Amino acid sequence: MYNQWNFENSYLNLPKIFYSQTNPDKFPNLKVILKNENLIQKLNLNNNFFDKLIINSIKNDQNNFFSQAYAGHQFGQFTILGDGRATLLGEHLNSKKERYDIQLKGSGKTPYSRNGDGKGTLKSMVREYIISEAMNNFNISTTRSLALLKTGEKILRNSFEEGGILVRVAKSHIRVGTLQFAMISNKKDNVEKLLEYSIQRLYPELINEKEKYLKFFEKVTENQINLILEWQRVGFIHGVMNTDNMLLSGETLDYGPCAYLDEYNPNKVFSSIDRNGRYSFSNQPRIAMWNLARLAETFLHLIDKDQKIAIKKIEHILNKHENKYKNLWLSMMKDKIDINQNHEKDIELIKELLDLMHVYKLDYTNTFIDIQKNNLDKYSSMKNWHSKLQDRKKINKKSNIKKNINPSIIPRNHIIESLLNDLDIENLKNIKTFIKYLEKPYSDNIPEKYTKAPEVEERVHQTFCGT
Ligand code: AMP
Ligand code: MG
Repeated sequence: MYNQWNFENSYLNLPKIFYSQTNPDKFPNLKVILKNENLIQKLNLNNNFFDKLIINSIKNDQNNFFSQAYAGHQFGQFTILGDGRATLLGEHLNSKKERYDIQLKGSGKTPYSRNGDGKGTLKSMVREYIISEAMNNFNISTTRSLALLKTGEKILRNSFEEGGILVRVAKSHIRVGTLQFAMISNKKDNVEKLLEYSIQRLYPELINEKEKYLKFFEKVTENQINLILEWQRVGFIHGVMNTDNMLLSGETLDYGPCAYLDEYNPNKVFSSIDRNGRYSFSNQPRIAMWNLARLAETFLHLIDKDQKIAIKKIEHILNKHENKYKNLWLSMMKDKIDINQNHEKDIELIKELLDLMHVYKLDYTNTFIDIQKNNLDKYSSMKNWHSKLQDRKKINKKSNIKKNINPSIIPRNHIIESLLNDLDIENLKNIKTFIKYLEKPYSDNIPEKYTKAPEVEERVHQTFCGT
């Protein structure tokens, strides 16, 4: 067990344009108010020294803390960006030699802050903590939340708000946008250096492969497709699928204006800035493909000297995975309604269900739970569909029914909002209780107040980046 970080910063071996040395601001009254004991354990850190470790890391300047440079397409527009409010403390190796970025989010200005103050509100950090840990508990790949601190400082947003720092953990923070940044840099070999680094760090099994760059692209594509599929399973809308928010590791990154669906609507967007529905629920797979095409553009020249051939190879992978996604989606949806084996009308059955759910504004999470529990009598709109489902189930093989598909609890917007409205920094009991129930999202034993769909007047329709 470690009382100190076990840092080994491989990222700093990359050319200097990829990062800038930074240090967190000094804060008047830092305090750890939430910590993730499971994750502390996974990192083999000593829980007894943890608070001190984090606070000292923020207080004492180091010459090897850094922020990362990157670029990205934001809502389709290419921009130079970078960690404007994040400082990477280092890459921690646990006792199994697994490598994790330990990053502070909201710790003050960096060279990439542009007009921002580099800080974040405590409320937005609590929100990320809850939603990202729920994602992990659904068994979906994501950056994690190790701890949450109050800074003791008031920061100006619409009004003055309590400041917070989230300690974020990821396999790595290399984004599609990091390669885009390399592509527009002066030196041509920056792309190659970053690619080699990414392969070494995230997909080391490819190092000696023949067409390793193409295989790397395929791996990233596969991970991304699987990630989106999982988001669709639990009704998650990311909200800002810009290329700078897409990690090469396939972890979910950037919990800004994201939210989970209450009533089903394929066109749903929560984000106040997504006016054209670019990142709506049903558009997520398409946008992932678009982002992957932007990724491929950064290293086409390394796939084949002949650009036409390189493009063909990339298109082949994208098309293959687009089809694969359709099949995976069908089989995931079949799992959600507890049918197995194949029948030519399965897709129709599922589409009809989704149409009904859309038209009758049925709750995404609870409807699937009711289907699973064969509890459909209360849905007058679904009588006809229910009898079709029962017929279809006759060809099911009993042993193949999948578990842990339909969560019974999700971090619903209106619950988070009400917890944040009543936030009392000295007493996070209610938040901790909610987090506790979210630890077992497939359990049958969750109080109704956490699983009930919001009443019409409780519904939250919009989220804000909340920086
Ligand atoms: P996001 O929408 O969170 O992906 O952020 C887009 C860009 O804005 C990234 O470069 C962030 O680092 C930057 N950013 C977001 N909030 C702040 C802030 N409070 N201060 C400085 N930069 C920020
Ligand atoms: Mg971002």
